[in-house]
Amino acid sequence: MNDLIIGNVTLVLKECLCPGSSLYIENGKISKVGRGIKMTGAPSIDGGGLYLSPGFIDIHVHGGGGHDFMDASEEAVIGACMTHMRHGTTTIVPTSLTAEDCELDDMFRSVDAVRRSDLADSLPYIAGVHLEGPYVSPEMAGAQDPRYIKQPSPEDWERIIGMSRGLILIWTVAPELEGAIRMCRDLRKAGIYFSAGHSSAQIRDVFEAVDAGYTMATHLYSSMSTIIREKGYRVPGLLEAALLRDEITAEVIADGKHLPPSLLQLACKTKGTDRIILVTDAMRGAGMPDGEYLLGSLSKGQRVLVFDGIAHMPDGISFAGSVATTDRLVRVMTHDCGFTVQEAVKMMTANPAREIGIGRKKGLIEEGFDADLVLFDDDINIKSVFIRGKQTV
Ligand SMILES: [Zn+2]
Repeated sequence: MNDLIIGNVTLVLKECLCPGSSLYIENGKISKVGRGIKMTGAPSIDGGGLYLSPGFIDIHVHGGGGHDFMDASEEAVIGACMTHMRHGTTTIVPTSLTAEDCELDDMFRSVDAVRRSDLADSLPYIAGVHLEGPYVSPEMAGAQDPRYIKQPSPEDWERIIGMSRGLILIWTVAPELEGAIRMCRDLRKAGIYFSAGHSSAQIRDVFEAVDAGYTMATHLYSSMSTIIREKGYRVPGLLEAALLRDEITAEVIADGKHLPPSLLQLACKTKGTDRIILVTDAMRGAGMPDGEYLLGSLSKGQRVLVFDGIAHMPDGISFAGSVATTDRLVRVMTHDCGFTVQEAVKMMTANPAREIGIGRKKGLIEEGFDADLVLFDDDINIKSVFIRGKQTV
């Protein structure tokens, strides 16, 4: 028995805040929620009136704490996971960059090893891997290394799946590429979620992708097509399609740098807060001081500069991923964009849980759900983290 009571907290529930509440954890799961829970012999923690919300779920994150998941060592996977856990992440989806097959193979191996290790109990739950590429549009590569961009072909994706140890959860694929629609049709059945991103798609390509089973858009506004003119006629792109279609839930990098508050507000106003997911898209500089870092693996990564709260490509023209952590995303949405704590938390917990198929056990404070929890103050400073009922921070 690993019973625990967390008392004197403001619970961040689906529909409301519930101050003066307690939460009872039994065997790693939430067993009772609300006011007036009787103190039994179980150990208890006084939450000091702070917020207690579901643990944060980051479905797009490349690294942190000086590590990139593409470093492909167990030490790097553990280091990045621990850095993000200290900032509130309790479920993580390590994200690759466009890279050679051998690098992807190494990444899968190291993530799998950590997921199976004894340490896994004290780390964020690794729900799977998010492959960002290699099937992306060269014109929308962003910080993806153009040398390793490919066209999707059955032989190629089957080879990647063959080395994946069953870890592929999300695949960002530009839907306009020849083969992308067939790929989605084939692999949706295998439980892989498709996200449209790094893409030059026109709106009709995206509609076709939605019909084939695409359910997400990768970092809305960043590295995606928008309205162009063809002989005077306006042709919408992926951005407009993602805003328009309810079947698509959109990631936003809510670090306050990639997108100004006005665009974060516009995305939420257009799609509704149920269809937006906050992601860090963090690279290895997250949780680290300003300076020079490598984006991607230690051996083949690209040099980037971290200052002013973001990673910059050396040309100074584009961003190279964020250095955000999940607490910062919630802070930006509440403090800079005017969303309520419940709304911001929903975009960081219940929405991503639903989109990756774990919405019946994670992402909400409800009886029977995993006791993945974070305790934080009004400024979203993380005070404690619980993973399946065990206090890890
Ligand atoms: Zn990314």
